[in-house]
Amino acid sequence: MCLFCKIVDKKIPANIELESDDFMAFHDINPKAPVHILAIPKLHVDSFNEVSAQTMGGMTAFIQELTKKLAIDKSGYRVITNVGENGGQEVKHLHWHVLGGSKLKWDHLADADPKDFL
Ligand code: 5GP
Ligand code: ZN
Repeated sequence: MCLFCKIVDKKIPANIELESDDFMAFHDINPKAPVHILAIPKLHVDSFNEVSAQTMGGMTAFIQELTKKLAIDKSGYRVITNVGENGGQEVKHLHWHVLGGSKLKWDHLADADPKDFL
């Protein structure tokens, strides 16, 4: 059983912000912004590569509800999912990073030159 499946089963504790029948949102253990939540489907999906359009429909509504609950929907936020090795995915259970609570940096990408990655 993967790490996030254990959190879903409450075998590992997490600071849960929002939960529905199909989805769960909990605070990242190593936050990268004043608000840093991980939103996941409860049913194990490896990554964005495998997720169905139906699950994504539910995820969208769930994340929208989450950002309203956190009161970051108006001030703005960022939603990211890392996929695979090049994407930097460490936990192989689909999760959306929901980051907000302050002006988020974008410079590292805005100024990036593709050659820098070779
Ligand atoms: P990834 O790199 O896979 O996109 O993101 C994995 C995220 O999970 C990281 O931001 C990391 O801090 C978080 N994380 C790893 N282990 C735990 C844990 O046991 N509990 C919680 N709440 N977050 C975790
Ligand atoms: Zn899992």
